[in-house]
Amino acid sequence: MSVNIQITNKPRIVIIGGGFAGIEIAKGFKGEEVQVILVDKNNYHTFQPLLYQVATAALEPDSIAYPLREMFKRQNNFIFRMTEVLKIKPETHLIETSIGEIEYDYLVIAVGSKTNFFGLEDLQRNAVPMKSIPQAMELRNLILENFEKALLTKDLEKRDSLMTFAVVGGGPTGVETAGALGELKMRVLPHDYPELDLNKMQIHIIDMEDRLLNTMSEAGSRSAEKFLKKFDVNSWLKTKVLSYDGEILALSNGKKLRAHTLIWAAGVTGAIIPGFREEVIGPGNRIRVDVYNKVVGYENIFAIGDIACMITEKNPRGHPMLAPVAIQQARCLVKNLKRLLRNKSMQPFAYWDMGVMTTVGRNHAVVDLNFIEFQGIFAWFVWLFVHLMALVGFRNKLVAFINWAWSYFSYDRGLRFIMRPLRNS
Ligand SMILES: Cc1cc2nc3c(=O)[nH]c(=O)nc-3n(C[C@H](O)[C@H](O)[C@H](O)COP(=O)(O)OP(=O)(O)OC[C@H]3O[C@@H](n4cnc5c(N)ncnc54)[C@H](O)[C@@H]3O)c2cc1C
Repeated sequence: MSVNIQITNKPRIVIIGGGFAGIEIAKGFKGEEVQVILVDKNNYHTFQPLLYQVATAALEPDSIAYPLREMFKRQNNFIFRMTEVLKIKPETHLIETSIGEIEYDYLVIAVGSKTNFFGLEDLQRNAVPMKSIPQAMELRNLILENFEKALLTKDLEKRDSLMTFAVVGGGPTGVETAGALGELKMRVLPHDYPELDLNKMQIHIIDMEDRLLNTMSEAGSRSAEKFLKKFDVNSWLKTKVLSYDGEILALSNGKKLRAHTLIWAAGVTGAIIPGFREEVIGPGNRIRVDVYNKVVGYENIFAIGDIACMITEKNPRGHPMLAPVAIQQARCLVKNLKRLLRNKSMQPFAYWDMGVMTTVGRNHAVVDLNFIEFQGIFAWFVWLFVHLMALVGFRNKLVAFINWAWSYFSYDRGLRFIMRPLRNS
């Protein structure tokens, strides 16, 4: 059964995934003589770099989400279907989705990545990942519920465990989350829970590498570690997580930590959709593409963003899984598909690496640009500005700005709600 979509005589470009890469591709064909079909399992785009702010009650979920239909309401050649793609059938130029099949002339796969638990089953069962808005909201609920429960228990060991948070992964997401938890500990929770001794709240960050932010400059790592220490965050470096049963966390250095909440920020892997030959799947479970983002061995299928693995001399395991890579690959592919449609040859993709930045907490960020590295309050303002401008839509920018300004001047987080969907009405 095929999905009900009008058939035209224009070339049909089907895009799977409305993330950074997918929306950029769809936008690039505005006004062109093609039919653009975007499919995503959600009806909104997620700005993942700020998920940790939703998890730590700094931003509302709808500040970092944007409805896909709203985004393209002025694009006449655009069609959206909310569905999960289950299989790709390259031989028949079809994708199989949960609502039926969709035919394509050109297929662009932009499905991003998913959380990687590296085969640790107990961690997959008991840790909380942070890859989507529902997961970030779940984490916010858990953090706040833990404090409500800590108030109720007379068992001191249990109380300490409820007030202990372990963050696994010392990359930008882990550091940002640990810093935000530290801010909650110092500035917000003592006012909400005066009956609890907040000195007992422990935050641990654990990483296998010998420094936090190991893909950034050494000065940046040092500065992040120093800043986290001020928030009483314990860093466990050169340390692996061996197991976690939901309460006891076993580390490779022999130490056992009692923590009721473990936040998993230790890595991602390609969100592969079945249907390709085995040799197409490259390092990191990503789809092997050539320099034009064309999936190896296929003429009319392309992959961009986190899911694409373009092996070059500089990037032997593919480009870093970052939003600028996804956006730049999408812009390059728009040009190349237009050239292809006009029977012209395609141009190879070249990544312009502007650098990376991460925030550690109020007034502190680390910025590593190509030509300069700096840390501290100025870096923090740069981080704020860049992230505010990158949010999609004026409303989202305005709401985020108001929330940040409110938190900055009042030292408050106004979004400390525990909200769960109603199961029985
Ligand atoms: C917590 C976190 C923090 C991050 N921080 C930063 C940062 O500070 N800076 C930075 O540059 N990058 C950051 N990243 C990485 C960045 O978000 C990704 O590199 C970027 O989102 C990749 O874009 P994409 O379009 O390839 O995939 P995504 O943005 O992940 O979009 C994929 C889309 O595909 C859809 N999808 C997936 N599978 C299916 C399916 N089978 N059927 C239908 N739809 C499907 C998903 O719903 C999603 O909308 C962060 C990521 C996370 C998780």
